[in-house]
Amino acid sequence: MSLVLFGPPGAGKGTQSQFLVDRMQLKHISTGDLLRAAIKKQTDLGKKAQTFMDKGELVPDDVVIGLINEVVSSDPQAKYLFDGFPRTPPQAEALSTLMKPHGGISKALFLDVPSALLMDRLTGRRVCTKCGESFHVSMNPPKQEGVCDKCQGELIQRDDDKDEVISNRIKVYEENTSPLKNYYQDQGLFSSIDGQGSPEDVYSRLERALKD
Ligand code: AMP
Repeated sequence: MSLVLFGPPGAGKGTQSQFLVDRMQLKHISTGDLLRAAIKKQTDLGKKAQTFMDKGELVPDDVVIGLINEVVSSDPQAKYLFDGFPRTPPQAEALSTLMKPHGGISKALFLDVPSALLMDRLTGRRVCTKCGESFHVSMNPPKQEGVCDKCQGELIQRDDDKDEVISNRIKVYEENTSPLKNYYQDQGLFSSIDGQGSPEDVYSRLERALKD
């Protein structure tokens, strides 16, 4: 089965995706990670995407749909976990069409976290420049400040996790991505999961939702 995981910025999509792909046979596709990799390589697509990401805006639909299309057609047999995609109704339509020959989407899991918590989660987030592992300065601190527990890489704050960009990302989410709740409800694929509490607690709820 292929799954969609969505929710506001800071809801814990990255962390829960890691649990899901480790425990189920799913290929993880995070458009955020794909775009950051393109920026690191300074490809044309990366340079274009960066101007939007730096402001907390969404990268245009045709760009991200093109990226997803490439990945899915390169491995049509795989079952996927889409993390941070779709983020707009046109992306959701495109995904639905693209996945039809591959068994479709089985469930759209929504991580529900109150907005008051999102700001704290995002401003305290630190990510590893080498392996991408995510930490939080107070909720999930690394053993040694600034150093990744997993690979000893350097931990940094993402440019778009800075105060001024975060509020825009939350606003952009409300306007563009929140309507996907209705979209997937109409399709009978929607499942809302309480995203508060420890990552393990949230994952137990996800597992339960997948069995329903
Ligand atoms: P994320 O790592 O999922 O928080 O994404 C970081 C940033 O990448 C977002 O704020 C957007 O600028 C961009 N991005 C990621 N996924 C998408 C998408 N599906 N559509 C448009 N922009 C995206």
